Amino acid sequence: MPQTIPATLIPGDGIGPEIMDATLAVLDAVGAPFEWDRQVAGLGGIAAAGDPLPKATLDSIRKTRLALKGPLETPSGSGYRSSNVRLREEFQLYANLRPAHTVIPGGRYDNIDLVIVRENLEGLYIGHEHYVAIDGDPHAVAMATGINTRAGSRRLLEFAFEHAIATGRKKITVVHKANIMKALTGIFLETAQQVYDAKYKGRIAFETIIVDACAMKLVLNPYQFDVIVTTNLFGDILSDLVAGLVGGLGMAPGANIGTDAAIFEAVHGSAPDIAGKGIANPTALILAAAMMLDHVKLHDKAERVRKAVNETLNVDNVRTGDLGGKASTSAFAQALVKRL
Ligand code: NAD
Repeated sequence: MPQTIPATLIPGDGIGPEIMDATLAVLDAVGAPFEWDRQVAGLGGIAAAGDPLPKATLDSIRKTRLALKGPLETPSGSGYRSSNVRLREEFQLYANLRPAHTVIPGGRYDNIDLVIVRENLEGLYIGHEHYVAIDGDPHAVAMATGINTRAGSRRLLEFAFEHAIATGRKKITVVHKANIMKALTGIFLETAQQVYDAKYKGRIAFETIIVDACAMKLVLNPYQFDVIVTTNLFGDILSDLVAGLVGGLGMAPGANIGTDAAIFEAVHGSAPDIAGKGIANPTALILAAAMMLDHVKLHDKAERVRKAVNETLNVDNVRTGDLGGKASTSAFAQALVKRL
């Protein structure tokens, strides 16, 4: 193994730099061997290079094939296209892995241990949209095109099955809306059944469910699910729901994995409402960094980080405001570092 692992670091917008500093302190303390190439994107990219996704950032990820990224701001309604979506497209990061584990017991649910595997490049989420002008109203009609492909569905589903089996999971639930969007999400459902029948039958349990019923069942009894596999937009929504089951967005990490690169991040956004106040919860990004350690096969270090997060929150009772505590972002990081 090389002594250092080159990786791209994008601190991000809003609370990004604050939670990234905390995360880097934790990675240093655990002896993570990443050799960081610091780059910018999002609002930071516009400020530094006039571009929300500068060429230097893309070149860096092309070289390192590995990145840790803070949240990037995207204007709603109009303005530039999401740098996150562009990064996923550029590096064909087709699988979005979003685990949800209970870290703080005593909430509405204890012992949640779920994974959402979301298709990351297709579906309605890709934002192929336009308006149609009628009678002088330029926004009289809005139209969106969703695209799901057999090949794109298959590679995501195969990733999900392989990941589930490799990590000892028991069941895959395929979430769709093929009763209404018979072609767009029907192709995903049909491909799931084909992939299961051809390669995975007998190796893991398999079921399918319509997205609205899935949302209800997740709230009523999340324990009936293990690995949820779904298309882009449904995965986006359900993973926030699942983050809510384990204490909110501040606790939810994510990985964007492709054949050419992998980018690790928190599920939450740049939280402009609390940016600059030093009160953001860095746990999600720290857990994303632990996923990155797993990705480069440093499982011991990943496990040490997760254990230290658990002890800091539950034994030391050091928590940020979103979890009812009083700790600042940096005080939380310092307490965590002491646990490593
Ligand atoms: P958000 O996730 O930034 O914030 C939602 C709420 O959760 C806010 O009240 C915020 O204060 C709180 N919150 C989020 N993360 C927190 C943390 N770590 N600690 C404590 N509280 C936290 O969602 P939003 O406000 O809808 O989006 C803000 C911006 O982030 C938008 O520009 C959006 O496009 C972008 N965004 C980026 C990503 C990403 O880069 N992956 C993901 C989601 C949203």
